[in-house]
Amino acid sequence: MSQPQWITVLGATGSIGLSTLDVIARHPERYQVFAMSGYSRLTELRALCLKHTPRYCVVPNPIAADELQRSLQAAGCATEVLVGEEGLCQVAAAPEVDAVMAAIVGAAGLRPTLAAVHAGKKILLANKEALVMSGALFMQAVQRSGSVLLPIDSEHNAIFQCLPQDFARGLTAVGVRRILLTASGGPFRQTPLAELEQVTPAQACAHPNWSMGRKISVDSATMMNKGLELIEACWLFDARPEQVEVVVHPQSVIHSLVDYVDGSVLAQLGNPDMRTPIAHALAWPQRLDSGVAPLDLFSIARLDFQAPDEQRFPCLRLAREAAQAGGSAPAMLNAANEVAVEAFLQGRLRYPEIARMIAAVLEREAVVPVDDLDAVFAADGRARMLAEQWLSRRGQ
Ligand code: NAD
Ligand code: MG
Repeated sequence: MSQPQWITVLGATGSIGLSTLDVIARHPERYQVFAMSGYSRLTELRALCLKHTPRYCVVPNPIAADELQRSLQAAGCATEVLVGEEGLCQVAAAPEVDAVMAAIVGAAGLRPTLAAVHAGKKILLANKEALVMSGALFMQAVQRSGSVLLPIDSEHNAIFQCLPQDFARGLTAVGVRRILLTASGGPFRQTPLAELEQVTPAQACAHPNWSMGRKISVDSATMMNKGLELIEACWLFDARPEQVEVVVHPQSVIHSLVDYVDGSVLAQLGNPDMRTPIAHALAWPQRLDSGVAPLDLFSIARLDFQAPDEQRFPCLRLAREAAQAGGSAPAMLNAANEVAVEAFLQGRLRYPEIARMIAAVLEREAVVPVDDLDAVFAADGRARMLAEQWLSRRGQ
């Protein structure tokens, strides 16, 4: 029997990270954890180290590293603790590693994910913000290194499954007319518009179908998540923004569809559980038991579809405009959104102000080309600064 594959799980303490570790633990003969990382929740990270005995574990600072290293040693665990972005890049690119789960949230995941790409690893991409920020550069790096890029986002994983294996020849060449990206509409799909002024972070994070980290939960409530996914789909599948249509489908059973020129529409269905796309990408091109229950169509009984309402969800329009503008626009959109979501979660911003603030930031800055990573981070930094300025002006 062949040796188990070594997997690095970046963002192991998060929702995707934990689901990944769950799938891996079901198949110890096939997968072993090479490294894992956590940024907060270090007690949970310690417990994960004891359970999965990775060779390395990465934490954000030397003090946390020291404490964790001592405590693991005392428990007889040989895991070596590394520090910061350098540590993340090291475990993402280590020669022993077969695949990297990129499940850090936000811009913080870009450099470690790119380190894995440059090292030619199989990349299981959950960290959509990394691709949104640096799309062209990221995809060029994938091409150059021969890295295999597999989408974890349930919609993109669904699209990947509905496309022919040679889709890289171009969507038109393989007969694709449109990509239909499904969206649940989040917790505020039907909330009266006037009530949106008052909604709380707890309400925004209570997603009707999916259990996820707080940032992506707020993004789902504003539908910025779908906007980021639209940009993500354009890069992953070499699509133009107008080839990607968003369809609100409140049950989250169809994870996305591909519409072909002959009228065939292929869809991927499943229970809303991220272990399905994770197991798919881990085992690809084979299949693996993920622990997800079989889909019970009789209990679902019906599937509904609606057009998205851009008045209710202005973030979707902002993201589509950024996709069309290209250059620095998606990185700025993403950065302004990260600041806005954090401020909303801290109670410093009301829900409708998230979109207002992002729009104000994007209006302030001209779109410039991004030819290297420095330009990406410069756009990211400018947008964060403008967003903070907007916040402090508004606070007066
Ligand atoms: P989460 O908040 O539950 O977990 C985030 C992980 O990133 C944690 O391990 C955290 O410690 C780590 N992290 C946070 N800030 C960091 C920093 N500055 N440096 C290093 N590490 C840091 O988030 P999640 O829901 O697991 O989502 C992770 C990524 O996957 C996001 O990009 C999200 O958009 C994407 N995604 C998630 C889901 C889902 O169902 N949760 C679905 C599709 C895509
Ligand atoms: Mg998704």
